[in-house]
Amino acid sequence: MIIIMKPTASAADIKKVEDVVRGRGLSVHESRGEQVTIIGVIGDKTRLSGANLETHDGVEKLVPVTESYKLCNIKFHPSPTRVTLRSAVIGGGFTLIAGPCAVENEEQMFTTAAAVKRAGAGVLRGGAYKPRTSPYSFQGLGEKGLKMLKAAADSVGLACITEVIDFDSLETAVKYTDAIQIGARNMQNFELLKEAGRAGKPVVLKRGMSATIDEWLNAAEYIMASGNAEVILCERGIRTFERATRNTLDISAVPVLKSRTHLPVIVDPSHAAGVRAYVAPLTRAAKAVGADGAMIEVHCNPAEALSDGEQSLTPSEFAALASSL
Ligand code: PEP
Ligand code: MN
Repeated sequence: MIIIMKPTASAADIKKVEDVVRGRGLSVHESRGEQVTIIGVIGDKTRLSGANLETHDGVEKLVPVTESYKLCNIKFHPSPTRVTLRSAVIGGGFTLIAGPCAVENEEQMFTTAAAVKRAGAGVLRGGAYKPRTSPYSFQGLGEKGLKMLKAAADSVGLACITEVIDFDSLETAVKYTDAIQIGARNMQNFELLKEAGRAGKPVVLKRGMSATIDEWLNAAEYIMASGNAEVILCERGIRTFERATRNTLDISAVPVLKSRTHLPVIVDPSHAAGVRAYVAPLTRAAKAVGADGAMIEVHCNPAEALSDGEQSLTPSEFAALASSL
């Protein structure tokens, strides 16, 4: 971090700031210009937390040199992370995670699992705890749904994943699934992130609908700082002024993330588009820009789906998309 002093800062102001920095066990590198003095801070800047240097007399501003996220930062960990979920590997290829928005019943899950496996998916998805906009919409089957998800995944040898929304659902989900998902609405639920870091299962962290990439990486850092290195980032569209799609898929987030983090990056074109017809082209776009996979909603009978039918592919549409990749 660099501290830029005001042109009016006195020698006493400068000394006081440097004393605070040294007092926290860091060193300083002072550069005195004709008008402005800048102070380079050498060492772990987290030691300055609470020092409120910006409020000191003579301080113009503080300029960070490195990002606040360290564990997920590619600068400090250049080799790409790969996450293994049973026989599926996320990172270094293009892995498909597919299944219904919500687990509805056993038959739906077994049929879907077989179909997506046949088409080449590596992971079965299915929500049992649904964070719905309206409290009157289907909220998910809870643990009963997790049992169906796991049984269906096991029947065809797929890994499975489900969203968790609070401590209770997290505690229950880890008993049944190979990975857990933290959804857009909980991306900055910091207590849930910390708990997910202690859960002992890989985490797919979706981007909050209004989150910047920096905020998203800091959210990943929360999980990693609690001891879980297996985090997968999922771009799922962000809120913009455009209403032709449910959200706007920020396809540029993929190469941006690839330049900043070693974590695998996948794309969810279903929740981004909200329209079935756009899911296949957006998935191909995700692959073209270097994503490590996609999470796609598939339903045997979208017209009767209890959630997100309008954006769900049928099994045959999914198979066609998978082979086009
Ligand atoms: C989901 O994947 O089921 C979901 C609710 O997605 P998001 O959190 O991206 O809205
Ligand atoms: Mn959905």
